[in-house]
Amino acid sequence: MSAPLGKACCRAHIAAMPEKRYTKSNLPEKTCEACGRPFAWRKKWERDWDNVKTCSERCKGDLRRKNRAG
Ligand SMILES: [Zn+2]
Repeated sequence: MSAPLGKACCRAHIAAMPEKRYTKSNLPEKTCEACGRPFAWRKKWERDWDNVKTCSERCKGDLRRKNRAG
C-alpha cells in the first residue's frame, strides 16, 4: 500500500466566493406610468431617458390614449 496521499485531497477552500455577473448594476430605473412596473435604462434611450415614461412602445401608446381621454 503506497498511495500518494496529500497531493490533491483538499481544495474545499476555493469554492467560497459567490458568483456575481452583474456589471451594470448601477443602471437607472423608472416606473412605467402606464403599467406601473419598474424598468431599467436601455441603450436605445440613452439620449432620451428623461422623456421616457413607459417601459415599451405599447405602454407609451396606452399612456397617450389615457392622457387624451382624461
Ligand atoms: Zn409599461
